[in-house]
Amino acid sequence: MKKRALDRPVYVGIGEDIIDFEPIRAVTIILQTSGCHWRRCKICNYYLDAAPISTPPTDADLISQIKYAISRFPEEDFMIKIFTSGSFFDRREISEGLQKKLIEHLLQNRTKKLIIESRPEFVTPEAIKPVTEMFENFEVAIGLETTSDEIRKDSIDKGFSFDDFKRAVEVANDNGAGVRTYLLLKPPYLTEREAIDDIIKSANDLLPYTKTISLNLTTVREHTQLYDLWRMGCYRPPWLWSALDIMKRIREDVRFRDIAIISDPIAAGKPWGPHNCKKCDKLVKDAIRHFSITQNVDDLIGIDCGCRKLWEKVLELEKFTHGVPLP
Ligand SMILES: [Zn+2]
Repeated sequence: MKKRALDRPVYVGIGEDIIDFEPIRAVTIILQTSGCHWRRCKICNYYLDAAPISTPPTDADLISQIKYAISRFPEEDFMIKIFTSGSFFDRREISEGLQKKLIEHLLQNRTKKLIIESRPEFVTPEAIKPVTEMFENFEVAIGLETTSDEIRKDSIDKGFSFDDFKRAVEVANDNGAGVRTYLLLKPPYLTEREAIDDIIKSANDLLPYTKTISLNLTTVREHTQLYDLWRMGCYRPPWLWSALDIMKRIREDVRFRDIAIISDPIAAGKPWGPHNCKKCDKLVKDAIRHFSITQNVDDLIGIDCGCRKLWEKVLELEKFTHGVPLP
């Protein structure tokens, strides 16, 4: 576990995001709570960022954390994204009364949108309604990862179903909130081709349920089951070409005209992160980032490298290698 003062958030940073396909500054806040109580996902080590369960932050600590974050807000209009290395709406992390108090602090006329991450089981009318009463433009962010219950269970062990997600969307919508959905490209035990097909199928399944699809490209994190697989040579993180291909196909599909697809590749170009051939990693990563803000498919066209042919061969041949990744 990483040790830090309990009255400081894990992270506050400023980046870019979009509202209704228009770019805007975005403040990301990761609050330090006792963290996720599930802690079984094969890919996740975010619980290492959490405070010890034996000595969690007090209510006063959490208010200090949010005040610290507010002191870093930019001068211009922005959106706020809140994470907790768990679920903001889990009362074991933040009590119900305190959830409301923390959000009250964020009420400022420059805040154009609020996004809060939670597992679906904590999305209840009691949790959502107080937020939509304060913030007209509010989205719950849910890490669904895939609409396949089989892949979510066997490759990730996430502990909830697509039906649980749909129930959460219904509760959110009934109480005036939208939903942003995280999909995970290439959890373990899938070939590159299966991973791409899974995201395309998931995006199609999500058409009635989400306003934004945020594509997370799997990064191998220490102290996870995925890390052990990767060390044994049984896993390769996704190709950046796969992400580019998915985003292009979805943006060109008219059925998705009102749904944004965004991605911010983490550790791109590293052996443990999404990568191509080293030479083109930065080029492709920058294109994906830029496209995420513009949603203009032209930003993904005309980007090429010799390794694209190799990626195409991987898609064709990996099914014959019985789970051993090709380069
Ligand atoms: Zn390349």
